[in-house]
Amino acid sequence: RYHPVSKNDVLAGRRAHFGGNLSLTYKDPVMLLRGWKHHMFDEWGRPYLDAYNNVPHVGHANPRIQAVAADQLKRMNSNTRYLHPAQTAFAEKVLSKLPDRFEVCFFVNSGTEANELALRLARAHTGSKGMVTPDHGYHGNTTGAISISAYKFNKPGGVGQADWVELVEVADDYRGSYRRGDPDRAQKFADLVDPAIARLREKGHGVAGFIAETFPSVGGQIIPPQGYLAAVYEKIRAAGGVCIADEVQTGLGRLGAYYFGFEHQGALPDIVVMGKPIGNGHPLGVLATTKEIAASFDNGIEFFSTFGGSTLSCRIGKEVLDIVDDEQLQENARVVGAQLFDGLKALEEKHACIGDVRGMGLFLGVELINPDGSEATEICSYIKNRMRDHRILIGSEGPKDNILKIRPPLTIDSEDANMITSVLDKILSEVESV
Ligand code: PMP
Repeated sequence: RYHPVSKNDVLAGRRAHFGGNLSLTYKDPVMLLRGWKHHMFDEWGRPYLDAYNNVPHVGHANPRIQAVAADQLKRMNSNTRYLHPAQTAFAEKVLSKLPDRFEVCFFVNSGTEANELALRLARAHTGSKGMVTPDHGYHGNTTGAISISAYKFNKPGGVGQADWVELVEVADDYRGSYRRGDPDRAQKFADLVDPAIARLREKGHGVAGFIAETFPSVGGQIIPPQGYLAAVYEKIRAAGGVCIADEVQTGLGRLGAYYFGFEHQGALPDIVVMGKPIGNGHPLGVLATTKEIAASFDNGIEFFSTFGGSTLSCRIGKEVLDIVDDEQLQENARVVGAQLFDGLKALEEKHACIGDVRGMGLFLGVELINPDGSEATEICSYIKNRMRDHRILIGSEGPKDNILKIRPPLTIDSEDANMITSVLDKILSEVESV
């Protein structure tokens, strides 16, 4: 029974006992006690459409996940120092989704840990330290991961840029240096990596690698021009570095047309990082790589994570990937994503404050602009909060926080897509009438 605890009591408790930089979404925060597929229910049982959460990839409170978790907890839960068929079954399932060169998996507890490990692998393999990364990316909350997360270290109060990190402009062909009218923009953005490599060499760090969210999400739901990543990887490899694809947001079928974002880019990474959705809410991160890179890391020092690759985690991870296949959720992401995209494009025609609609599958962004074309941060905040009043949860992203982010569980259906666009249409009309 949750009812005796009011939202205000919980809010007061948070203020009393939690750090002030633990943020809450919405001016009027929501308290959510139940979930079902892509719906959530507050303390009064009122439903919200979850059009934002990528963690419940196969839906909130998925019965198959509940069943394997309960079954495994009844049997036992232990670590990778003992044999269990669930470990190899999960690794084989993950690797079956990746190109043949990926033969080794490491299991950890979060996207952050997987990226932290990716840094260690890149350094072990190359003997170098320098990293190149886009100038508005996010890879996690630990010291190493923050160092390659310009979105965090570059903020006022952030730790600043480490001297072994070099930044390149996010390949945003809507607002960046090279725009959609330019057929050579992918190569031009990729060429920005050359001076970054040169600077790392001058400083004596060499090039350990390049890491990027395949489609930059905190950068504003950006789809880089096709071929960008392949061109970057070529340069990084020529400089002796390894190429790390952070597929935490883009992987596992969300894009509809592709299981992983790097496929769209015609690029073949050396390390692929998966997180968030792969555990459907259970803490789980996975790093996949080649035998050669894994061998460089196998240097006599044991790698161990108490919970990473636990029996429970492996059972849940495998079940998530099986559900995506069994329920054809990648195809659902393609079909419903296309419908949403078309609906949003129609709104772009109608409402002047929409500057751009972009995305793929169920990874979508709506860039809001002021009449002079500048980033409409306030309008974005207004719309996000009004959507919440209508009980539709969406997010916002971008360096100026002016891009609406729509990234629902893959179970979302056509009716929900209509609901999102029709409510958004009404709220956009409110914006214009102010
Ligand atoms: N990489 C990306 C692209 C992410 O979006 C996130 C989480 N937002 C992370 C890494 C870190 O994952 P976690 O919070 O599970 O550590």
